[in-house]
Amino acid sequence: MKIILPRAVSTSLLLSALLLASGAALAWSKQGHQLVGELAQRDLTPAAQREVDRLLAGEPVPTLAGVATWADEIRAESRGAGNALGTLSSKWHYVNFSGKGCDYVPARNCPDGNCVIGAIQAQAATLADRGRSDEDRRNALKFIVHFVGDAHQPMHAGLASDRGGNNFQLNYRGKGARQGEGTNLHGVWDYWLLQSAELDNTRYTRRLLELPLPPDPTVGAEHRPLQWALESCALIESQAIYPPRRRITDAYLDQHRPLAERRVRQAGARLAELINAALDPPRP
Ligand SMILES: [Zn+2]
Repeated sequence: MKIILPRAVSTSLLLSALLLASGAALAWSKQGHQLVGELAQRDLTPAAQREVDRLLAGEPVPTLAGVATWADEIRAESRGAGNALGTLSSKWHYVNFSGKGCDYVPARNCPDGNCVIGAIQAQAATLADRGRSDEDRRNALKFIVHFVGDAHQPMHAGLASDRGGNNFQLNYRGKGARQGEGTNLHGVWDYWLLQSAELDNTRYTRRLLELPLPPDPTVGAEHRPLQWALESCALIESQAIYPPRRRITDAYLDQHRPLAERRVRQAGARLAELINAALDPPRP
């Protein structure tokens, strides 16, 4: 008789659920985006916080975490009933670099600003512009919360050759999950790494706040969203993100989870800086 330990059962159920969910492969899991919002909210200046509260007042959950997955939701709707903003923004969740050196030519890799780099830049400008309507600025804020998260997920700033890991099929060979289940590398980074920690948002936020936040080399750099995406792309090779033989085990998840967590932590800090700069700029 095979004895199944409770831990194995929960991992198995969890991964089955995640396998279903990962079919969509849109972005960090809901939790990843919510954590970025949660972390950023703590670092807003009082003036930026007041303007965020005003803009989000009519939202079901009027916090950065509460609106963090809106961009994915309208994108999903655009596939069915047709949500014009969802369709328009569908390319704003990622950037595909060319070649192994993460080569970036705006006209090729981000035509007309339609990639995550261009979108963060444009939406931040809209958020900062008090001459724009509240609706435009509210949408811009909701987009930024989401896209700063996406730019930090290495597979959202990966290589065009396999559509950021979406075309890299692999098998999960862990102890708890069903053997031989297929998924793709993009899905693993969107969902499995963080979800397999099995922490709720409150506990995960506490854990992330304990991580060190080293000096940020992109502070003061021109075009920071490009630098963030380039960092993501560089991590793919330097951290051996592509598993050999298209197979991963629990050891892969345990090995790479700290990197995923570091990216969420960085995204939260940078998101707060971006919103503070837009809503509470230093006075001349
Ligand atoms: Zn996304």
